[in-house]
Amino acid sequence: MQCCIGQCENRTEPEEGEQECDNDSAQSTRHSRINGWSSPLHLFQIFAWLVSFYFVVMTFGIFVPLLPYQWKPAGYICISLAMCYHAVVHIATISVDPADLNVRIKKSYRNPIPAFDRSKHEHVIENLHCHLCSVDVGAKSKHCRYCNKCIAGFDHHCNVLNNCVGQRNYWLFINTVTSALLTLLFLLAVLLYIFIQYFQEPHILRTDPHFSRVNDSDTWLLFLPFASVHTTGPSLVAIVGVTTLLSLLCTTMLLDLLCFHIYLRFCACRPATAVGKHMSTYEYNVWQRQKLEAMESSTGGNRQTDSQQQPVTAEQVLLQEQHSTLPIPNPLDSSIGLTDLHNQLPQMLNSNDLTPMSRASM
Ligand SMILES: [Zn+2]
Ligand SMILES: [Zn+2]
Repeated sequence: MQCCIGQCENRTEPEEGEQECDNDSAQSTRHSRINGWSSPLHLFQIFAWLVSFYFVVMTFGIFVPLLPYQWKPAGYICISLAMCYHAVVHIATISVDPADLNVRIKKSYRNPIPAFDRSKHEHVIENLHCHLCSVDVGAKSKHCRYCNKCIAGFDHHCNVLNNCVGQRNYWLFINTVTSALLTLLFLLAVLLYIFIQYFQEPHILRTDPHFSRVNDSDTWLLFLPFASVHTTGPSLVAIVGVTTLLSLLCTTMLLDLLCFHIYLRFCACRPATAVGKHMSTYEYNVWQRQKLEAMESSTGGNRQTDSQQQPVTAEQVLLQEQHSTLPIPNPLDSSIGLTDLHNQLPQMLNSNDLTPMSRASM
């Protein structure tokens, strides 16, 4: 851990740096990845595509066709526009090569990157020169261990996009998150409407002409207007429920991610080590880890000081208790203890906030 924050700073993602530090000597040469389409594809990337495909099929195959006749055009247009915009910026974010300008100019991705030799250099990047990419890089560039190249304005490596997010595709990334969030909010509005109307006025959901040929009111049609798969009312409610839960889960994660990046752009407090006007996810993670380590070392130091002040032997303990003229304080009655706890609690909560680590890997 200390190796990555201190000695290996400015080289790779902090949360994975320690492993890389230990394995540098054993790391074999390998090629750099160009963008999110480069192999290997990440499991999260494939899962995200499958979930997106599920939402598209369910939205246009089941939910929008159930809307009243006058609402269908708005449902198709709004959700289609949001989905198309999301698809464009999503593909663009994956396709952009976020590498540092000098890496893109001087480096051929067909040449393998050699293993880092710690006997020659202490850090991968020293004096704004990357020893692996063999080029000079910008002040905010980091060498990503997954992409195996220096990223301009490194923010984080996104496993869902399978690409680094940096200066060249940061706003595309924000647009990807925002458009996905907007699409899900449209979908949730449709799902909520269907759920309410199913129990209140279900005939409103049966305005499609295909329902005129269905006599049973508990029979519902899916994948209209091109197909008409028959199902029962409880099955339709189950589909709506599962999709709503999945949508809420995705919405919560995306909203959390978007709020975090808004915080990074506009937060007043920032570490002194942050480069540039805005703090990146990488800088935030390093900052939080340094605060956590400082707190742990401080706590360890206090424990050591306390232990030095404690009696060493049983005789000393007995002697101290016999000569003590003050009652032994009860921590629960001590206002000092509660005040200390009150003062330390915000720091503890803040220092232990490791959520951005997971955000960084999304
Ligand atoms: Zn590099
Ligand atoms: Zn990367």
